[in-house]
Amino acid sequence: MALTEKITCDVCGIQKGEANHWMLWSTEFFMPGPNGEIGGIRFAPWHKDLYRDYNHLCGESCAGKLLAKSVAEWREIAELARCVPADAQRAVKM
Ligand SMILES: [Zn+2]
Repeated sequence: MALTEKITCDVCGIQKGEANHWMLWSTEFFMPGPNGEIGGIRFAPWHKDLYRDYNHLCGESCAGKLLAKSVAEWREIAELARCVPADAQRAVKM
């Protein structure tokens, strides 16, 4: 019986075949702070014993897209961390 497990890329959704440059990614190494203000991401080569425990990417291109998305999220997080609540800001200006 051939490979029956269906593994797909978390970015583009393509299904994994035999030959590939697939890799693993995870955010679990980076623990969020008390307000959830810290994000993080890490990448690793594909590993036959570990792939079930991590998320999947089909290659460098999708890893780049995921990183770009994460960087955008980090900026949002940084913005939110700097901001006081919208109501409080308005009250100060008035
Ligand atoms: Zn992909």
